[in-house]
Amino acid sequence: MPGAGTDHTKEWSPFDGPIVVLVEPQLGENIGTAARAMANFGLTRLRLVRPRDAWPNVHARRAASGADAVLESATLYDNLPAALADCSFVLATTARAHDQAKPVIGPAEAAREMAPRLAAGETVAVVFGRERWGLMNDEIGLADCIVTFPVNPAFASLNLAQAVLIVAYEWFKAAGGGLPFGMPARSPPAGKEQLFAFFATLERELERVEFFRPPEKRDTMTINLRNIFTRMAPTQQDIQTLHGVITAIAEGRKGPARGGVLDGREAGMLRELLAEHGGGRVPGERGPVRGLSRLLRRNPTDAERALWEALTKDRRFAGCGFKRAVPIGPHIVDIVSFPLRAVIDLVPATESPEAAEARAGKRAWLKTRDYRVCEVKASEVEADAVAALERIAREFGIGKTA
Ligand code: SAH
Repeated sequence: MPGAGTDHTKEWSPFDGPIVVLVEPQLGENIGTAARAMANFGLTRLRLVRPRDAWPNVHARRAASGADAVLESATLYDNLPAALADCSFVLATTARAHDQAKPVIGPAEAAREMAPRLAAGETVAVVFGRERWGLMNDEIGLADCIVTFPVNPAFASLNLAQAVLIVAYEWFKAAGGGLPFGMPARSPPAGKEQLFAFFATLERELERVEFFRPPEKRDTMTINLRNIFTRMAPTQQDIQTLHGVITAIAEGRKGPARGGVLDGREAGMLRELLAEHGGGRVPGERGPVRGLSRLLRRNPTDAERALWEALTKDRRFAGCGFKRAVPIGPHIVDIVSFPLRAVIDLVPATESPEAAEARAGKRAWLKTRDYRVCEVKASEVEADAVAALERIAREFGIGKTA
């Protein structure tokens, strides 16, 4: 058969299906499209009871779109009893109630009724009525069962060929006809070990950009993130790709040439430069240059990063409202809690005399405005961030009552 989706090399159908009987079909086109629907679902046996127009019919042939074999083997009958004479089980399809003491079933159930009989070698037929007025009561009376489709009751009548299609389709499914093709084979599912390693990388990189804020939401955010990937049921290949994506982004961020972002040493140099030049202020302006605090926040020194990581993991500090690289008046402080009016001032290992002076000026300024300032040496944090944090907690009286 010609056309897309048709493959001559394939076997017609492995199943022996029911006979389709059309009673006094009026339009050749409908016989042709009914034959096509039959062919789509592997049915071959068509019986015609007194078709209105001469047979063979050119309109039927054209409408069959290549299902010629079904039309060529169709057989003609003078009346319905003759067409059903060799059948042992007959179903009559109708859109209307006929008030006869016969089981009324849907198309799926009809397929289930037919399957075991056909499998046992019985001859089964499904009867369809005329386009204009369907099947007569006496014709319905010849059947074992009435089949009607679940339809809109206000518009119940289907086109003849479409009615054939529904029955043929349900039959094909019930007989075990599966989909002709599926999704191409995927890489095997990712094991938990691979998945957990991906989570570890993802969370480490997100930690670096302080994604988990506020700290008290960290646990929920982590679980939600993990669930997004778990729901995907990822393959090994998926996780490899995602892992590569995270690494590429992280490395792009670290590499100054690509991401334009500073490493810890460069971030320290930037701070020194700012300290020496009056905290990054434009002459005549009250505060630092706009966006500078954001730039500092995004480019922490190693000590800032380590201390912040420890602080956000420490439940005692959750809810204290600590923030990083925040402008206060003309200064930008390393870490501040406005509710506690407490500032953590990170002192770099080496500092030029100008920078040290500027720092002293900043501390004095903060103290006159009632800020408590805890000085922490960068080397102290780098040696043991948790111990440094412990000292900060003591100094500010954090977690005393907890
Ligand atoms: N006007 C006719 C319907 C003709 S449709 C009537 O009122 O009965 C042609 C044939 O398609 C019907 O005789 C029947 O065999 C089938 N058919 C159409 N709609 C159907 C439905 N909702 N349920 C079952 N068979 C249907």
